[in-house]
Amino acid sequence: MTRLSGKILLAYFGAILLAVIAGDLLLIRFLENLLLANARQDLQQEWIESYPSLQGAVVAPSRAQELRGKLEKLAQDASYRFTLFDLSGTPVADSRPGEPPDSGRLPRLPEVSQALQNGQAFALRAVPGETSQWLFFAKLTEDAVFRVGASTSGIAALLNRVRLYLWLATGLLLAGTWLFYAALLRRANEALVRFRKMVRGFEQGDYAQRFLVLSGDQVGELGESMNTLAKDLESKIRALAEERNRLKAILYTMQEGVIVLNADGNIALFNPAMRRLFGLDESALGKPPIEVIRNADLQGIVDESLAGQAVESRELRVIRGGQERFLMVQATPFSGKSEPLGAIIVMYDVTNLRRLERVRRDFVANVSHELKTPLTSIQGYVETLLDAPGDAQQTRNFLSVIDANSRRLGKLIEDLLRLSEIESQAFILRPEVFSAAELIGEVVALHEGLLKRKDMRVETAVMPEGLRLRSDRMALTHILGNLIENAVKYGKPGTSIRVACGQEGGDARFSVQDQGIGIAPVHLERIFERFYRVDRSRSRQEGGTGLGLAIVKHLVQLLGGEIEVESAEEVGTTFRFSVPHSIV
Ligand code: ADP
Repeated sequence: MTRLSGKILLAYFGAILLAVIAGDLLLIRFLENLLLANARQDLQQEWIESYPSLQGAVVAPSRAQELRGKLEKLAQDASYRFTLFDLSGTPVADSRPGEPPDSGRLPRLPEVSQALQNGQAFALRAVPGETSQWLFFAKLTEDAVFRVGASTSGIAALLNRVRLYLWLATGLLLAGTWLFYAALLRRANEALVRFRKMVRGFEQGDYAQRFLVLSGDQVGELGESMNTLAKDLESKIRALAEERNRLKAILYTMQEGVIVLNADGNIALFNPAMRRLFGLDESALGKPPIEVIRNADLQGIVDESLAGQAVESRELRVIRGGQERFLMVQATPFSGKSEPLGAIIVMYDVTNLRRLERVRRDFVANVSHELKTPLTSIQGYVETLLDAPGDAQQTRNFLSVIDANSRRLGKLIEDLLRLSEIESQAFILRPEVFSAAELIGEVVALHEGLLKRKDMRVETAVMPEGLRLRSDRMALTHILGNLIENAVKYGKPGTSIRVACGQEGGDARFSVQDQGIGIAPVHLERIFERFYRVDRSRSRQEGGTGLGLAIVKHLVQLLGGEIEVESAEEVGTTFRFSVPHSIV
C-alpha cells in the first residue's frame, strides 16, 4: 500500500470511529433516558397498584414485623423492593429479606427527604452492596413514606448489548470497507506501478511502450491519455532525431569547417572539416576558440558575432604546421526569443585559390618579362641597322643576334603553347606500341648536332633488350628530348650521358644521367616550376626558356607516372621517371 493510500484509509477509519463513538454516546444516552423514563413509569404504576394493600396500616417501629411481612408478600409477585418510612424519614420496614432497612442514617435518603418535602420523588443512585444503580420512587402518604425501588441492572445489560451490537456492526463495516478499499487500492496501485514504469521509460528515452487499457474508468482514461502522449512524443522525437541526423550528415560532409559557439563564446560543436583544418580534438569542446586556434583575428570575429553582428566573408591568415594558410570566414549570431544563444562560424580553406592566383600573377609577369627581353633586343638591333647600316660584317653580326633572339622568342612561344595544351583538359593521349630502344635512338638522333658541338656522347641501356612499350610516343619523345637537351646544356664537354629504360613489373622506368654542373639541394624542389632557373643567364645563353622541366613534369603526370631528381654539384644530375602499365 502506498503512503498516500495508507493515509487516506487511516483518515477514513478515523472518521468512522469518531462517528461511531459519537453515535455510541448519543444513542446509548438516549436509550438509557428512554428506559429510565419507562422504569419511572413502571415504578409509579407499581406504587399505585401496591399501596392499597398497605392503606390503614400503622407505620410504627413496633409494627415493623407485621409491616415487613406485608412488604415481602408484595415483593413475592414482583421484582421490586418496597420500603416504608415513618414521617421522620426513618425506615420502618423493607421487603428485602435479611436486609436491614437503610438503618436510620442521616442525612436521610435523598428520595425520602424529597418526598417528605415535595410529596413524591425519584432517585437514581448507588446502593451499598449492589453493582448496578437502583431507581427509587418515594411518595408521601398520610402517615408514612412508601417507596418502591428497582435495580437498573436490566437496563445496564440491555445498554451493554446494544453497545456490543453497535461495535460489532462497526467492526463489520470497517472490515468490509477495508477489504473493498484494499481491492480498490490494489487496482489503483497496479495502475500506478504501470504508470511509473511508463514514465521511467520516457525518462530513459523509451517512447515505444504503451499502457494496456483494461477498464473504462478514470485509470483507463488516464492510460489512454498516456498512450496518446507517448505516441505524440515518439513521433516528435523521431522527427527531431531525423532532423538532427540530417543536420549532422550535412555538417559532417561539409567541406567547410563549422564551429558552433554557445552564448559564453565557448565551443559547443565542430565538424570533421574543422578538425582537419586545425587538428582539433574533443578536448576543444567547452573552450573559447582563441585557446585552441590561437588567432587574434578569429577571436575578433567571434567577439563581433557574439555581440550580435554577422561577419561576412573575412579572410584570415593562419600559420599551421609552419605553413601559411588562408581561410575565408563567415560568422552568424543566432538567438532565442530575446537572449543570444551563440554563433556559428563557417570557414573554408582558400589557400589553393590564393596560391593559384599568385602563380597566375607570377606567370603573367614572367611571360611578359621573358617575351620582352628578346623583343627589346630585336627592336634595338633593327633600329640600329635602319638608322646607320654599317659594314657587311657588322650587319651580319647584328642579324645573327636578331636571329638568335627571334628563335628564342619562337621557342618560348612554342613551349608556352605546349604547356597550355598539356594543361588544358583537351589534351588527349594517343597510346601506340613501340620499341623502347628505337624511341631513345630517335630522340638522341634529334640532338646529334648539339651533342657534337659539346663533344658529348649518349650511352643507351635498355633492359631487357627489345623492351616494347604501349604509351603516347609523342609525349615520351618530348619528355626524353627535354631531359637529354638539359643534360647536354648543363653537361660538361667531353662527358657522356646515360639514357636507360628498364622494367619494374608492368611499369617502364626511364633515367637520364649526366656528368654536368649538378643542381644545389636548395633548388632541387623548385626546378619543375615554370620559369624557375638556377642560373638565369646561363640558361638564356644555352637557349633555355625555363619551361622545359615544367612540361616534362606535366607530361609524366599525364602518363600516370612520377618524376624525381637526384643531383650533386659538379658531379652530375639524374632524372628518373616511371610510365605505369606501359610494358607490353
Ligand atoms: P631551362 O630552359 O632553363 O633549361 P628547364 O625547366 O629545362 O629550363 O630547367 C630548369 C632549370 O633546372 C635550369 O635552368 C637549370 O638551372 C636546371 N637544370 C635542368 N636540368 C639540369 C641538368 N641536367 N643539370 C643541371 N641543371 C639542370
